Amino acid sequence: MEQLSRVFVPTVLETSGNAIGLGCFSTEQVAWQVLRSFLKKSEQMSLDSASIVIWDIDVIGHDAMTELTNLVVRECPVCQRKTMWFDLDQYSAICYGTACSAWIEENLHEKDIIDCGFPPTQYLKQTKSIDEAITELTNLGNKIRSAGEDVTNSMYNQTDVSQAISND
Ligand SMILES: [Zn+2]
Repeated sequence: MEQLSRVFVPTVLETSGNAIGLGCFSTEQVAWQVLRSFLKKSEQMSLDSASIVIWDIDVIGHDAMTELTNLVVRECPVCQRKTMWFDLDQYSAICYGTACSAWIEENLHEKDIIDCGFPPTQYLKQTKSIDEAITELTNLGNKIRSAGEDVTNSMYNQTDVSQAISND
C-alpha cells in the first residue's frame, strides 16, 4: 500500500467556540462528503464556521498545514434558517436546510456573473454581484411565504410555490 503523505481534516466550529473534529481522511473527496453530511445538521445546531485543512505527515509546525476551504454559516435568504454556508474564497454558497438547497455561485464561464438558484422550483437567475443574488433569493423567499407556503416543510406543494413566484 502506498504510504500516506497527507491527510484531509474537516472541522466544524460551534458558536460557543467548541470545535467538532470530523476525523481525518486520505482524500479530499471523502473529507468533503463527511463535512457536507454533517452540515445537514446545521438547522438543529448552533454552528459558526467550518474548514478542511490538509496536514502533511511528519512535517513539524505550521508549514505542515494548508487550509483547503473555509466556510461560514449565515441566514438563508429563502428559508430564513441559519443554514446557508458561504465559501468566501470562491464566492459560492449553499443552504443545507431540509427541503431548501438555495445556492449562489460564480458563473463558470463569465467571471462577472453570479448565478443563484432554488432547485425545488427550478428557479435560476443570473446577477451581477453576491448582494444582488442575495436580494433575488430574499425576494423569492418573501413571495413563497406570502403565498402561504413554507419552504422548511418538505411536504410543501412545489406547483403552488412555482405559480406563486412565476407571476413576476
Ligand atoms: Zn435555505
